[in-house]
Amino acid sequence: MQIIRDIAMLDRAVAALKQGGKNVALVPTMGALHDGHLSLVRMARRVADHVIVSIFVNPTQFGPNEDFAAYPRDEARDAALLVEEGVGLLWAPDVAVMYPGGHSTHIEVAELGADYCGAARPGHFDGVATVVAKLFNQVRPDIAIFGEKDWQQLAIIRRMARDLDFGLDILGAPIARDPDGLALSSRNAYLSAEQRSAAVAFPTALKTASAALANGDDMYETLAKAEAAIVAGGFDSVDYIALADADSLERLNIFRAPARLLAAARIGKTRLIDNYPVG
Ligand code: AMP
Repeated sequence: MQIIRDIAMLDRAVAALKQGGKNVALVPTMGALHDGHLSLVRMARRVADHVIVSIFVNPTQFGPNEDFAAYPRDEARDAALLVEEGVGLLWAPDVAVMYPGGHSTHIEVAELGADYCGAARPGHFDGVATVVAKLFNQVRPDIAIFGEKDWQQLAIIRRMARDLDFGLDILGAPIARDPDGLALSSRNAYLSAEQRSAAVAFPTALKTASAALANGDDMYETLAKAEAAIVAGGFDSVDYIALADADSLERLNIFRAPARLLAAARIGKTRLIDNYPVG
């Protein structure tokens, strides 16, 4: 596997991969890879001739009091996992390559980025959209794959690709979960053993609520019950729990398909997000 950190070298490598009309799929990540990321890589291998994975812990999507410095980083381990998956190219630029001095242009995400995680993390989705746009321009993939784990992010990237005519296909990959239901996340590494066993309350409550909503149960009651179950299970607080239109992310007061139950909750210093389809 080639590990490339320089844009000119990336250009040459991508041109070589695309020779003979071969297509390329990009899987953007922040590293600390787990089976969720690897499921995206496997999807990429099924749909494209060549797979490029990027690893970049993007400073502009972290708020001033968030975990940018503490975010887990282990490139050697990540690279070994990607070699096992048959990935040909790892794009791993430094911050100075991604944001050279004087960098002053960014993408602003309007409505889709305002609610849910965007409300709790001001500027987060502007940072995500900007770095993803840069990755698209750097790699020029035919296909890019994102996880449904970050449902709001996936909706925002799809919209950005359409709004700014990126001319590539965006694919969403299903959420990979541990056997007890907890969605895999690099941030699960922050959980103590006790918090990790408590964390099962989060997906369990969401799954129960999603079935109740699809069944026509009262929305406010169902969401309040889910929130109470998450806190009773050991979480400190629920940032948000909401039923949203699956595409526009508009908040729904009454269930109508396609809908998604979106939530974020805090346990100790760790903030976890998850979502379930409804109906
Ligand atoms: P991250 O490294 O957290 O930025 O995630 C990189 C990509 O992997 C994003 O598209 C995420 O949505 C996706 N991803 C992370 N965790 C999971 C998971 N448990 N299942 C599916 N996709 C995931």
